[in-house]
Amino acid sequence: MSQETHNFQAETKRLLDLMIHSLYSNKDIFLRELISNASDALDKRRFAALTEPAIAEDNLHIRLDVDTPTRTLSIRDNGIGMTKEDLVNNLGTIARSGTKEFLEQVSKSDAQSRPDLIGQFGVGFYSSFLVANQVTVVSRKAGTTLAHKWVSTGDGSYTIETVDDAPVGTTVSLLLKPANDDEGIGDYTNTWTLRQLVQKYSDFVAYPIITQQRKAPTGDGDDKTIEFEDKTLNSMKAIWMRPEKEVTDEEYQQFYRHLTHDWHDPAGRVLTKIEGTIEARALLFVPSTAPRDLFRPDMSRAGVHLYVKRIFILDECTELLPNYLRFVKGVVDAEDLPLNVSREVLQSNGQVRVIKRQLVKKTVEWFAKKLTDDRAGYEALWKEFGAVLKEGLLHTPERNEKVLDLVLATSVQKTGSLISLQEYADACKPEQEAIYYLTSPTADLALNSPHLEAFKAKGIDVLIFTDPVDEMWLQDNHEGFGGKKFVAADGSDVKLPEGEEAKKATEENKATFADLLSAVRASLQDDVKDVRLSDRLTNSAACLISDKGDMTPQMERLMRLSGQNVPRTKRILEINPTHPAVLKLQERCKSDKDSSGFKDLTTLLYGQALLAEGGHLENPAAFAKLVTELMARA
Ligand code: ADP
Ligand code: MG
Repeated sequence: MSQETHNFQAETKRLLDLMIHSLYSNKDIFLRELISNASDALDKRRFAALTEPAIAEDNLHIRLDVDTPTRTLSIRDNGIGMTKEDLVNNLGTIARSGTKEFLEQVSKSDAQSRPDLIGQFGVGFYSSFLVANQVTVVSRKAGTTLAHKWVSTGDGSYTIETVDDAPVGTTVSLLLKPANDDEGIGDYTNTWTLRQLVQKYSDFVAYPIITQQRKAPTGDGDDKTIEFEDKTLNSMKAIWMRPEKEVTDEEYQQFYRHLTHDWHDPAGRVLTKIEGTIEARALLFVPSTAPRDLFRPDMSRAGVHLYVKRIFILDECTELLPNYLRFVKGVVDAEDLPLNVSREVLQSNGQVRVIKRQLVKKTVEWFAKKLTDDRAGYEALWKEFGAVLKEGLLHTPERNEKVLDLVLATSVQKTGSLISLQEYADACKPEQEAIYYLTSPTADLALNSPHLEAFKAKGIDVLIFTDPVDEMWLQDNHEGFGGKKFVAADGSDVKLPEGEEAKKATEENKATFADLLSAVRASLQDDVKDVRLSDRLTNSAACLISDKGDMTPQMERLMRLSGQNVPRTKRILEINPTHPAVLKLQERCKSDKDSSGFKDLTTLLYGQALLAEGGHLENPAAFAKLVTELMARA
């Protein structure tokens, strides 16, 4: 094949421009990225060899070769390699949908955090252009005979041609820019520098990273000859096998970065050892910030890698943690699983279930401890991951009641701060049998809701939940918490304590307002299923509540969002017998309850109750017209 010239995809071009022309503080990271790619390629080859023994290779390694006269550094692996198509697809385009986001983030972020964005967005290869004027990739895919050479100077194009006689695997050769402290470019022809970088970023890579080093001179006088020897730069120690007290935080953090490409330090780690009939070790990390794709099941990747006896088997292993812990990252190393274990086998494997149970237990315990030890830190984490954790309370086989201990919600009594269910239970009167809650799109909307008036007046706390998942688990959670059931403050189950006098007044009101209730019922029969007197209102004239077992408006909204066609559920209108507007209505009811004027007033009463809770009027224009007509008459 003669040489072909290809243009980079437009976005790749922009990316390269940024790499080359923007200032990055820490260009050293190119080495970490290229070693990480080589390590991935070695993993892939070993995995492929399980089913294609012909491509097996028992000397998998990475080599760093320096040629000082030409200022060339080569990173070579005998991994899976790339075909011509692979070269074009992987190095000429940025397949990941995250690219655009990456470009936006880079232009917004400060120079400090940029290099780590590179790795995070899966565009690590291009970081070679931070330190090189020209990059050459020679690659041959395992199981094929033809090798290809890819060359680019990082301008708009690259060339590809066939080459004879290349070994299986990939060599990335960098024509290095001169070392320059001001630009943060080190001397990468110096083996000492390389060793420092490997030890800092890539020590735990599971394959030897080898370089040639000058041997200490032997002989003397004129006999002195310069000899070279191979030297392995990384310890290859599986960090999860080492006792925790022998590993520094810095080492754990570097490993976390290697694993996740997340440039924020993790919020914590869970190191656990399973012993007995099943043996396994796990090192899990709880990130400090949520990835963008946490709620996009199509993109969101499970964070656990499976190893068997220190050998990498599978990444994105969804079988090892439940979905509600999908943001947790880490490594599980099992002693007794077969090396060729497949995803299908994992799903039905008893050992895997035992390991999973232990991981869940330890992770939930970690969160519980964080809640007691570091409240501020926990609240920050809750804001990132609370909505996901609460999926653990949904009615699925993975449901875990222990997650209830982790739940925080906005307290009405503590004016908007977050409290736990235990704190709610501890603060309420012993005779209070329920945990009252209100779900709402925002806490502000809920805090001003008419449903809370009597709760506030009586000093009874209500928890406000604002995540879409809340409506579902709260309705599912029939056991409640600590012997108290969850009761919706806008539901028909609310029974607030009443004094003797209030009880008497309620009885009297029943008789006094009986006619009004049936008149309003008749007038609003298309909109509501019942009209009742309320004991939960103090300032507002009316509010809407959901009948027991009925679909709540929040649930209706969720189902519509998910594309389901749900009929509107009629609710119950509660009116406040002490409110002047209701008293006015009572007068009108006596004189002309069949007039259109009375009908207008009940329509207004219903409409404002709906608006006050943030609901949507079915016919806003007609409602507005009614209001302005009344204004004109007043
Ligand atoms: P990422 O590693 O996150 O996928 P990179 O930009 O680092 O992104 O690499 C892009 C792709 O190029 C890799 O996914 C891989 O398919 C391919 N690649 C890079 N380096 C190698 C290598 N040494 N051996 C085989 N494939 C490689
Ligand atoms: Mg990479």
